[in-house]
Amino acid sequence: MLFDAHCHYQFEELSPHWAQMATELEAIKIGGAIVNGTHPDEDWDAVDTLAAAHPWVIPSFGIHPWDVATRPADWQLKFIHRLESHPRALVGEIGLDRWILEPARAKAPAFAALKTASIEEQAEVFRWQLRWAADHNRAASIHVLRAWGPLWEVLKDTPVPKTGFLLHAYGGSPEMVPQFVEMGAYFSYSTGHIDPRKTRQRKSFQAIPLDRLLVETDAPAMAPPHPRYPWPGDPNDWMTNHPANLAQAYADLAILRGIDPTVLEETVAKNFARLVSR
Ligand SMILES: [Zn+2]
Repeated sequence: MLFDAHCHYQFEELSPHWAQMATELEAIKIGGAIVNGTHPDEDWDAVDTLAAAHPWVIPSFGIHPWDVATRPADWQLKFIHRLESHPRALVGEIGLDRWILEPARAKAPAFAALKTASIEEQAEVFRWQLRWAADHNRAASIHVLRAWGPLWEVLKDTPVPKTGFLLHAYGGSPEMVPQFVEMGAYFSYSTGHIDPRKTRQRKSFQAIPLDRLLVETDAPAMAPPHPRYPWPGDPNDWMTNHPANLAQAYADLAILRGIDPTVLEETVAKNFARLVSR
């Protein structure tokens, strides 16, 4: 069985193709998928709907760093209410992102139009959500992009969930891995890491202990360069990620780690179960 440790199957891009994709996910033997909400008024309900429809969907609710600036005034109440009424749900996607504040804006008009929050404001919202996750021992799914310094600042004085937390699509250095492991971190290998040009990230994944490895798609983001499952809406769309490419990430990681694919599958299944249990 395969497990997607971090994804956004609730996003609008997937809805016209969802019936087909769910069948394809079941064909690759999906055993669990942590589907992350990003904004209380935009996609948390859609995450709920998916979780109600598929027993293998584990809902997760959080305010993504890109959504901090547009969070509603009563976001804390909404967060507590949603998490308390879903005892199975995890916390995420939460985190810190400095890439979106500058380099991303030059890349695409959509990024330049995004209303963003300063790293200080992001840290405040992240810290509050992480503390709640720790107090209630719910695993947290954490996004960090060009913000490793600010992450250490938060982790210095904020508790983390006892069951662990996920550094999704880990892009930090191999040197930081042991300290994160000690704190209870898991690290997910993404379909985006399949790219051979991502030498630095691929090196980090050779340094991660086997009992902390997970696999993810972040679908519809993070498409691999030559997807095993092209995007059904437009086969020439190389950017949008089909969730069934999860199988490709597993296969690639088994080669990168030099381990038997069946052993990797069993290891990841155990890690996934440990992280989501309380
Ligand atoms: Zn994500």
